[in-house]
Amino acid sequence: MNKSQPIRMCISCRDRQPQSSLLRLKIADKDITAYDGSGRSFYLCDVCSKNQKKIKGLIKRFKQDEERFFKLLEELMKNG
Ligand SMILES: [Zn+2]
Repeated sequence: MNKSQPIRMCISCRDRQPQSSLLRLKIADKDITAYDGSGRSFYLCDVCSKNQKKIKGLIKRFKQDEERFFKLLEELMKNG
């Protein structure tokens, strides 16, 4: 592992991990989308991104559409 990599915190469990092992998302207006280089971003760890209960907690917290959010995570995990 590259030790110079920035350490980021998972928004859900607050676990700290190297940035490359986390999913990066952003809040655009009220919707959470994949991070595209600008805007307010946050991170989600591998464990939380596969944990239905945690995801549902985030959906509630950010008032997201459940179906859309699960699809987004699925896409991100496929690509990343
Ligand atoms: Zn986490």
